[in-house]
Amino acid sequence: MFMTPIYPTDAYPFSRAELIEKLKAKLSPHRFQHVLGVEQAALELAERYGANPVQASIAGLCHDYAKEIGDDDYRKVIMTQQFDLDLLNWNNNVWHGYVGPYFIETELGLHDPAILQAVHSHTMGRPKMSTLEQIIFVADYIEPGRDFPEVVRAREVAKSDLSDAVMLEVTNTIDYLVTRKIPIYPDLILTFNDWAKK
Ligand code: GDP
Ligand code: FE
Ligand code: FE
Repeated sequence: MFMTPIYPTDAYPFSRAELIEKLKAKLSPHRFQHVLGVEQAALELAERYGANPVQASIAGLCHDYAKEIGDDDYRKVIMTQQFDLDLLNWNNNVWHGYVGPYFIETELGLHDPAILQAVHSHTMGRPKMSTLEQIIFVADYIEPGRDFPEVVRAREVAKSDLSDAVMLEVTNTIDYLVTRKIPIYPDLILTFNDWAKK
């Protein structure tokens, strides 16, 4: 439905086809399908809310690049690359967003700060997210492969107001974690507080 964006060769170290091949090699088939879905959802949101489609495509495809890296590799990077050592008290759900940009830079040679920032905040959000960050945050939640009950409403809201879609996702995620007594990473609360003040 959407034109496949062509990545300008001087700005990005690979074509979309080359990036797809790298991701296919790095990710399980299930997650590979997920990132293609997030790219599609991100392109739709980029058109609707006026973001750069090349950045939406690459950030959508790369957002879970580091999700299947092993815990020991994460611990090594966190301890040697000047990350907040409190991250060691958390798990892959937190690490793959915050440490993901390190792996994307070192393994893919991709350095676009706007894309790396969108990967960074795709799980917890962040106060004052850029449009691209909000797009990736929401696209991850509503991509065509998602089928939990709340996704129907989230897709509707994402069609009318991107910021409302962020808040719906944040509150649903906090509800989910509280109900199951799963620790909430403080940055998710910071995102909630910022959106609640809007
Ligand atoms: P995915 O990578 O496409 O599966 O999606 P996300 O990156 O958005 O989330 C990854 C996982 O992290 C999901 O299972 C969320 O429920 C979980 N998650 C989100 N926020 C928090 C949090 O504050 N604390 C913990 N422990 N898990 C969270
Ligand atoms: Fe993720
Ligand atoms: Fe994801």
